[in-house]
Amino acid sequence: MRLSAVAFALLALLVLTACSSGEPSTIASTREPSTPTITPAPTPSPSPVTFTSVIAVPPTASATPVPIHHSGPYTVAIEAGHGGPSWLGAAGYGASGERLIEKDLTLDTALRLDELLREAGFETVLVRDGDFTLTPFDGAEYRPNMIAETQARVDLVNASRADVLVSIHFNGSAYSSLRGTETYYNPDRSFGAESYALASFVQAEVLSKLAGLEHEVSDRGVRNDAEVGGDPNNAHSYLLGTNDGFRPSLMPGVISEPLFLSNADDAPRIAEEETRQRLAEAYRDAIMAYFVWLQS
Ligand SMILES: [Zn+2]
Repeated sequence: MRLSAVAFALLALLVLTACSSGEPSTIASTREPSTPTITPAPTPSPSPVTFTSVIAVPPTASATPVPIHHSGPYTVAIEAGHGGPSWLGAAGYGASGERLIEKDLTLDTALRLDELLREAGFETVLVRDGDFTLTPFDGAEYRPNMIAETQARVDLVNASRADVLVSIHFNGSAYSSLRGTETYYNPDRSFGAESYALASFVQAEVLSKLAGLEHEVSDRGVRNDAEVGGDPNNAHSYLLGTNDGFRPSLMPGVISEPLFLSNADDAPRIAEEETRQRLAEAYRDAIMAYFVWLQS
């Protein structure tokens, strides 16, 4: 959650929870949706799709959702939430008082998950493998920057024709007592049932792994991503939803918020490498369970 003064004032009226990239929109994209053309789906790359500088991602060639049922191998798109100098996400403090920034911890967890998935035979697409954004994100105006960056990420994931999209975040709230685990999905897509299944597996596996660390778990549930922006009129998040002027993601997806950086009990746990490794394992196990479920 980027707690700008305005956003903070508005959102403090609500119970602040998610810190994901999705927020309600009244701002249309400056780019019109491309005319759908039929082109062959790109062959998944044998290595992660990575970028080390700002790039222009072409609009996806097809607006057709990725087929749910097909034989493997399967491709998993991993989004490390936030990134770069202007999109930090939530913040907190470790056990020794060290500053914890969400963008760093999501990246670390995403890289761990990438390795685990490849070991398990999956193809992967990393939206980012370093501390950067795909768009300039100059920070002057948060909202249009956030929308443009999220569009670039969704375009990248769509172009890869990944089977699922897993977005990794750590939560933040103005209410420091808030803690626990929640997973967001969008029920109002053609693949809403699949997104719910994936979200349910993620939620269960994250809770299980945290309990294995003897961390007191708090199950905040599998939730509708319309809550992410904190606006009851919001259609859905940008990452998982359909919003005017925005090319939506084309595959089942979830936004995971396993722990709160703003909570004094959760944050020191996030700072521990072992916790992030267990979380990566939880995502891997949930993704594997999802594809087994698909075939059942
Ligand atoms: Zn976040």
